[in-house]
Amino acid sequence: MRKNLVISLTALLLMTFITSYLNMAVVDVVSLLFLSVVVYTVHYNTKEIKVLKGNWQLLIGAAFIWLVADGAWLVYESLGFFMSEDNLYLSLLYAIPNVLLLISSLWYFYFSKDKWSKRQLTIEFTAVTLIIGIIVYALFLVEFDIRYMSLNTLVNMFYLITDVVILVLVMTMIISSRYIKVKLAIRHLYYAFIVYVIADFIYLWQRINDAFTSNALSDALFLFAFFTIAIASHHASKEPNEYFDYKDKLPLNYGRSKILWLALVAPIILLVTGSIEIIHFSMILLVLVIYQVTSHYVQLLMMTEVMYDKEHEMTLKLEEEIKERTRELLISKEALEKRAITDSLTGLFNRDYFNQELLDRIERQDVFTVAYLDLDKFKIINDLHGHHMGDRVLIHIAKLFGNHLSIDYEICRIGGDEFALIIPGDSAKVMTGVSQLIKELLDKTIVIGKYSFQVEASLGFARYPKDAGTASDLVKSADIAMYHAKNEASDVNHVFYTSRLVEGLERRNHIEMLLSKADFENDFELYYQPQFDAKSEKITGMEALIRWNHIEEGFISPGEFIPIAEETGLILQIHDFVYKAAIKQLSRWHQLYNDSLVMCINLPPMILNSDQFYNDLEGCLNLYRMKPERIEFEITEHSAMNTSIMMAETFKKLKDLGISIAIDDFGTGYSSLSYLKRFDVETLKIAKELIFNIEEDEDVRLIVKAIIMMADGLKLSTIAEGVETKEQLIILKSLGCDIIQGYYLGRPLDSETFENMFLKS
Ligand code: C2E
Ligand code: CA
Repeated sequence: MRKNLVISLTALLLMTFITSYLNMAVVDVVSLLFLSVVVYTVHYNTKEIKVLKGNWQLLIGAAFIWLVADGAWLVYESLGFFMSEDNLYLSLLYAIPNVLLLISSLWYFYFSKDKWSKRQLTIEFTAVTLIIGIIVYALFLVEFDIRYMSLNTLVNMFYLITDVVILVLVMTMIISSRYIKVKLAIRHLYYAFIVYVIADFIYLWQRINDAFTSNALSDALFLFAFFTIAIASHHASKEPNEYFDYKDKLPLNYGRSKILWLALVAPIILLVTGSIEIIHFSMILLVLVIYQVTSHYVQLLMMTEVMYDKEHEMTLKLEEEIKERTRELLISKEALEKRAITDSLTGLFNRDYFNQELLDRIERQDVFTVAYLDLDKFKIINDLHGHHMGDRVLIHIAKLFGNHLSIDYEICRIGGDEFALIIPGDSAKVMTGVSQLIKELLDKTIVIGKYSFQVEASLGFARYPKDAGTASDLVKSADIAMYHAKNEASDVNHVFYTSRLVEGLERRNHIEMLLSKADFENDFELYYQPQFDAKSEKITGMEALIRWNHIEEGFISPGEFIPIAEETGLILQIHDFVYKAAIKQLSRWHQLYNDSLVMCINLPPMILNSDQFYNDLEGCLNLYRMKPERIEFEITEHSAMNTSIMMAETFKKLKDLGISIAIDDFGTGYSSLSYLKRFDVETLKIAKELIFNIEEDEDVRLIVKAIIMMADGLKLSTIAEGVETKEQLIILKSLGCDIIQGYYLGRPLDSETFENMFLKS
């Protein structure tokens, strides 16, 4: 700041010196050079300026025209023309910068207008106008006589008016920018404008009082004004984006103005030098006093307004904060609510949600269907690969459902491997479609890491309000239907609830209860059904078939209780009893009759997982000195295809023991031939369902023929099951079947009867 002042004062002194004491022509040339530098500097700095760029171009224009006018002056003088201050053209040329500066100050004024309180601005503008008006009147107009008006005086009047307006605007702006620091650039412009106006006043005063000499103080001041504009442009280029540090909402003219009292300095000097009368000075004082009083009230008003605004703003802010807090609370509440109804593993809805949704829909009297879905044999995945892998399979399946089932369905996971869907409407067609889609989705092998899984599902549908009237009954009904779907041997993976199912379920539960109480050694007995060589009709062996004669219930078919035992896991104990009893029996018959007899034993697929089984089996074979090749395990085609167990591996374990394997019920399931080779089986048991129809149905005959031919090709032996008639026997013989089993040649019999009928003779 101080440095700036020193530079400016030095420049001013230098200019005064040059303009006052040097040779005219030199002075003119120097001032031309000086103005050129100013024009260039401002032009150069303007490139960096971003705010009010046009205004700076106006200022360049003003300096440039001054330069041109000075040039013209020099030419006039050097050509030796009579030089008159009254040269009209030159006067007009010098008037143009006045106009440009006026526009420029107006522009700034307009630019800042929204930042002032209008009321305060008005009184300040009035006070400034009055004070300047009084001074200008006292200086220039007291003795002005309109009758002696010439064209030149008119131009002088024009100068005067533009100067007064510029001064009023600049002074008002200075006073109105109170509580903030005006940027250096703007401040320098204010100085420049004031210096310019003062220079003009001095010039005019000298002209009016005929005291004018060219290149005197006023000329120095003009040059100094342009110099200050150059300095301002320099600052503007350094602070190119903002003119005010205007951050608050307060009006710029808020607060008391201290500088207005400075307005007294000029009148006092003028009074002392005798340029104005005491009356004018008193008028100025009066204006200042009136200004102070009005300003006081306006400021009070403004303060109230500002305080009101601030309060209002704070209220708004508070409201905004409250809104924000409420929003946050809502979001966390939503998140909590979502957690409460989401299954953490799969992201599907959970059981709570499912139950609530049922209640809601029943209350609304919606028509809808509940689908209960249970994955078949999912337990095996958990047991074999651990729960972690089981979880990943569940997540995979949940994703499949989420991505492919309609968004109108609510998909919930309600237990380990149990899912439930809530489906709008009760159309059987829609439900069959859903079941079909789920079957297709699960048909694709699930690959996780190096493991691949094949999962099936059973679905039970129950409709509201057709099948049940309450949520719990609805769930029970869907569950019953699902159970039936699970046990249905057919390809369909879903069952619709009917009241008939309940009876079935009750029976099933009853058997399950009986099974859990059964004492296998005493309650169960093995029956044996003979098998015969097709050509010689000599006995080759027998199939062990379990019988359960319950003391109270009477005979319970294995077809009924074996599936239940498989589901509940009791099959492992049952099987343990079966194979041990069968091997013991066979070993006795070997000793007594014929040691080439082969015992066929049905093998439930899940037992293949148990290492215990292989050890026990080996122990048992050793105990009875049984040749392992006399034992044949039967595995149904369906289970052989359906377990995710590594069949080849487990089959190999049996192979290593020397035991042979038969595929049971061949021809009813997938009949895929590839696994026959892979699993290294010895025997195919042709399903009795085929044999039953072999007489009447040409196609069936062809199928059986094909099976036998294929078995021949693969070097497998064939057993025909369920041969009930002579005709069937003849056909099978003709087709080249190896072994015959069926009621026609022998029913399953208890060991004693069997022995008497088939072995003793
Ligand atoms: P399976 O393995 O297909 O057994 C053959 C079934 O066909 C036996 O029924 C047998 O009595 C019957 N059968 C044999 N010849 C004829 C015939 O000429 N006509 C008709 N209509 N049927 C005939 P069973 O004994 O009721 O056994 C049913 C199923 O129970 C068996 O089907 C088998 O899957 C299972 N099972 C029976 N005993 C055992 C066992 O000890 N362990 C295991 N795991 N499952 C067994
Ligand atoms: Ca069998």
